[in-house]
Amino acid sequence: MRLFDSHCHLEEEAFDEDREEVIRRAVQSGIVGLVTSPIYPEDVPKALSLRGDVVHVSIGLDVAEYGDEDEVRRTIELILEHQDEIVAIGEVGLDYKVARNGPPKEKQKEVFRRFISLARELDKPLVIHSRWAQRPVLRVLDEMGAETVILHAFGGTPADVEFAVERGWYVSVPTNVVRSSNVQKVARATPLERMVLESDSPVLAPNPMERNEPSNITVSVKYLADLKGVDPEDLAEITTENALTAYRLRGS
Ligand SMILES: [Zn+2]
Repeated sequence: MRLFDSHCHLEEEAFDEDREEVIRRAVQSGIVGLVTSPIYPEDVPKALSLRGDVVHVSIGLDVAEYGDEDEVRRTIELILEHQDEIVAIGEVGLDYKVARNGPPKEKQKEVFRRFISLARELDKPLVIHSRWAQRPVLRVLDEMGAETVILHAFGGTPADVEFAVERGWYVSVPTNVVRSSNVQKVARATPLERMVLESDSPVLAPNPMERNEPSNITVSVKYLADLKGVDPEDLAEITTENALTAYRLRGS
């Protein structure tokens, strides 16, 4: 079975003790590629050091930092500096839960638009964070003419999914699909040809008490195959091909 983890955070401290082993387990479980996404400038070198045949990198910034112009500028500089080494920009987006105590909605949108423009300029896919802000995220992406979009751990309504699918964007289903009725709803609404799989490691594990890791996609792929009424092999193959297309990794 060929699997692809479209979004995780292997540079995080949670993996400092056994990162190599986690990657080895991922490969043993069938993961042919994964995209790790540092969301703080200081984590970028660590993420880039993991790059190889299986590990790819996308540079983003935590929405909670969007009020800090220095962090925003550093992130943009890192993206420009490493544009040939990264497969995407993100995760970036909007987070209206964070807006309660962090950067206000308008500030978030302004910074989000800068990242979308940068993705257009550099012709890179965007990996999108959209907590409590699915509709606004879709609107901003659409207004800005975003092209290749991967909606990470998307929590929108079936109508939101339809909006994304109509534009050729991808919906990324996390491993907690096995226990989240909302994620299950999104998965049901997403056609296979627009679905990719992610772990979002170290979070969103199938078992909420455990640290997540990419190899857990073997759990979600079985669950999703059942939910979609398809063979797990087929679901693995289709979602892997989708990810290779989205991240433009074909033939590499
Ligand atoms: Zn994430």
